[in-house]
Amino acid sequence: MKKIAVISGKGGTGKTVVTASFAALASCGVLADCDVDAADLHLLTKPRKRERHEFRSGYTAKINPELCKRCGRCREVCRFEAVSRDFEIDSIDCEGCGLCEKVCPCNAVVMEENFSGEWFISDTEYGTLVHARLGIGEENSGKLVSLVKQVAFDTAEKEKAGYVIIDGPPGTGCPVIATLSDIDLAVVVTEPTLSGIHDMERVIGVAGHFGISVAVVINKYDLNSENSRLIEENAGRNNVFICGHIPFSASVNEAVVKGVCPVNFCEAEVVEKIKDSWKNILRHLGDKI
Ligand code: SF4
Ligand code: SF4
Repeated sequence: MKKIAVISGKGGTGKTVVTASFAALASCGVLADCDVDAADLHLLTKPRKRERHEFRSGYTAKINPELCKRCGRCREVCRFEAVSRDFEIDSIDCEGCGLCEKVCPCNAVVMEENFSGEWFISDTEYGTLVHARLGIGEENSGKLVSLVKQVAFDTAEKEKAGYVIIDGPPGTGCPVIATLSDIDLAVVVTEPTLSGIHDMERVIGVAGHFGISVAVVINKYDLNSENSRLIEENAGRNNVFICGHIPFSASVNEAVVKGVCPVNFCEAEVVEKIKDSWKNILRHLGDKI
């Protein structure tokens, strides 16, 4: 089983379009949407939910008024001023450190695990999709990313899938680092703009730090051939291979609006370029085309 993560230095570069297209071309893969803060792979893959699970992460303190003797110790020790004068805990201010529970002489404080979101295993026409919904304002997306990814790996193992194709989060933060561990190839999707080049360099740097092999897809490469050339030069310097050039086409956006996978919708020129990118990845991984 080969594990491929599609990432980008920032959002909006066409990462999900590329992921869904690769999934359609792979035909024997498991998909994982690790962009849990802004999951949208489901929009192009129309999943039918098979399993639903709660995601719990972190703790919030709660005081049992029947046991509380109002001694004030919890209020004294809480550095986050989460305990009110009436000895009620503000769940927004509480950081879940558990100090109040430790000092309470009456065992009146309990630490409750937070409900932080949900994760799902679904069927799509391109294979099983593991995806999640993080609750509004919830943190710990790195933990949820690791969970989604591990479930995808386990599912692929069970289903004897040839590939796990991951739609990774944008940027270079904790969720990206969680996505990049234990994968075979990071595919960076970039656009030929100066900010695109800068973001690409940063994310290549992160992947390089973890010793992960990197390929680059230049999306809308024909919008600025000079910047596309700079991306190629930059990739050469960083020992990164360019696996594809996808031209700009209004049909890609149309496909997204209609919720269909671009390789099943766009004109032949675009589809062929996406197929070329996938074939180059297979060659790079030493797989049959
Ligand atoms: S768990 Fe920590 S942050 Fe929350 S109320 Fe207790 S002492 Fe304050
Ligand atoms: S430390 Fe315990 S008993 Fe004292 S006020 Fe807080 S919850 Fe109540």
